Amino acid sequence: MSKQTLSFQAEVAQLLHLVTHSLYSNPDIFVRELVSNASDACDKLRFEALDHGELYEDQPELKVKIGFDKAARTLSITDNGIGMSEQEAIDHLGTIAKSGTREFMGRLSGDQKSDAQLIGQFGVGFYSGFIVADRITVESRRAGLAAAQGVRWVSAGTGDFEVEAIERAERGTTVTLHLREDASDYLSTWKLKGIVSKYSDHISLPILMRKEEWKEGEEGKGGEMVLTDEWEPVNQGSALWTRAKKDITPEQYTEFYKQISHDHEAPLTWSHNRVEGSTEYTQLLYIPAKAPMDLWNREKAPGVKLYVRRVFIMDEATALLPTYLRFVKGVVDSADLPLNVSRELLQESRDVKAIREGNTRRVLGLLEDMARKAEPAAQDAEPAQAAASEEERGQYASFYAEFGSVLKEGLGEDFTHRDRLAKLLRYASTQSDTPSVGLADYKARMKEGQEAIYYITADTLAAAKSSPQLEVFRKKGIEVLLMTDRVDEWALSFLHEFEGTPLQSVAKGQVDLGKLQDEEEKKAAEQAAETFKPVLERLKASLKDKAQDVRVTTRLVDSPACLVVQDHGMSTQLARLLKQAGQSAPEVKPILEVNADHALVKKLEASPHFDDLAHILFDQALLAEGGLPEDPAAYVRRVNTLLV
Ligand code: ADP
Repeated sequence: MSKQTLSFQAEVAQLLHLVTHSLYSNPDIFVRELVSNASDACDKLRFEALDHGELYEDQPELKVKIGFDKAARTLSITDNGIGMSEQEAIDHLGTIAKSGTREFMGRLSGDQKSDAQLIGQFGVGFYSGFIVADRITVESRRAGLAAAQGVRWVSAGTGDFEVEAIERAERGTTVTLHLREDASDYLSTWKLKGIVSKYSDHISLPILMRKEEWKEGEEGKGGEMVLTDEWEPVNQGSALWTRAKKDITPEQYTEFYKQISHDHEAPLTWSHNRVEGSTEYTQLLYIPAKAPMDLWNREKAPGVKLYVRRVFIMDEATALLPTYLRFVKGVVDSADLPLNVSRELLQESRDVKAIREGNTRRVLGLLEDMARKAEPAAQDAEPAQAAASEEERGQYASFYAEFGSVLKEGLGEDFTHRDRLAKLLRYASTQSDTPSVGLADYKARMKEGQEAIYYITADTLAAAKSSPQLEVFRKKGIEVLLMTDRVDEWALSFLHEFEGTPLQSVAKGQVDLGKLQDEEEKKAAEQAAETFKPVLERLKASLKDKAQDVRVTTRLVDSPACLVVQDHGMSTQLARLLKQAGQSAPEVKPILEVNADHALVKKLEASPHFDDLAHILFDQALLAEGGLPEDPAAYVRRVNTLLV
């Protein structure tokens, strides 16, 4: 059969035009696309050979070779995969068969700019070769066909292509690119190796290139690198995640983590799964042991790399995990996404949403496992549970110390998983100096008649512990959670209750100890408020610029006064933090609560220094919670007047 010239299908011609005119800004991708095609061809052969072993002929080792010829200005990519018959070459390289592609072509507007964006999102595959080549020759023979049934396909990437039958002994395909003048860069081992290691390192087949050797120039002058006849692999070929779990040792998992994370410490734990169903992907996710320096930067993307069928697509794919899990490192390898998927497309893709949800659940599951191991083993525990090692028991605390604050952001960010997140929270409390109290533990030891989970926020643990607001809770033996993380108050504004029990700040609103307070106490308080009314009125008048209200307290035992805010108001502590951080915060006018049983407060009524005492009470209450009087000099002056 002689040579025949055929026209490209109209859509191919259109695509070719776009490829050459829009993708020149990132020409390197043609290597990735062609290597990926070569690797797919090998996968197809392997699959067909399951039933037809003879297809391997005498070459069972599948591989890809990349070679170049400087003089001829050609670059070629050869595989010994399935190959193409003449008809297949005509069909596959001359028409667009995939329905997705046709749909994509339909969306093109003809406007060069917007089309260039669209095309960036789309796998252009084989045709990407025309970004750098003004002519492409494909020679191929399908596995199982005779040597005489080879095919040569040639095109300049314009309207048509030529095909002819050739004799080809080797099975598989060679794609030869005749490079344009401006694409000479690619005639370099160094350049090609760099591209392969960036995009195709994890292709599990060996990708081979000719070894280079230094050759001295004549009479010791000059010298250059020359290609030898020896082929060596240039990819790592270590797509660890594609291997079965049982074949991977913990050391290998750890080594791989270090490679992808650039962390020199071993991870705390990991999870490796092949997810099947409507969206197919493999996930390998690690929880690091130590927080990186930039963990606090919410702009920082999660360290999850995206691969599509073992081909690297992008680093730090934000769409694959929510922001509050940005400490997770790992790899997701999708079987469904197109190779040229862009960041924009990632945000919209339904497959990506399913992957994100799967990843989130997996990470929460990992954390729950760690948390479970930290719990003291129950009496009737299964032997397996009782066997958590010392190290395993400490893991969750160690995770929490590093990443707990970031995890808390999830309360405000991820409403779907709020209940699971709430169970993962740990705090210090009036019964524990270390952040080891979970909301469930707290609930389990609540007092008979206690109706809320009580907490206080402060700058430091010491300030929280000595806060006057805790006095009545101490007296009654009620546990209070001590929260000292900057994010706590914000995060808790999204968590109003835990398994039906409300969370209540001890520094907000009225203390309502409900059934914990007996009738007598209630009566005494009401009476005190009544008899104290005239003093309260005078205090209000003195402090009208500072306090929103002044009232008799039920929270204090030993201290004369404290400040509280309204039920849903911002605490004075948070307002202070915001101001320190240079952010605008609403002016919080707190409520001053005074202890009518305190000697100092009792003295007020008859004191000739009523006004000074009123301001001192207020400023001391502010000091007690870690704040500073608005006018420190005035405070000192007032105290000194009284001292004298
Ligand atoms: P895609 O790979 O996304 O299907 P391409 O345009 O890259 O699209 O390739 C079109 C088709 O050409 C492939 O589906 C495949 O059938 C065939 N093909 C391309 N490269 C090779 C190769 N190296 N070996 C065998 N077939 C190939």
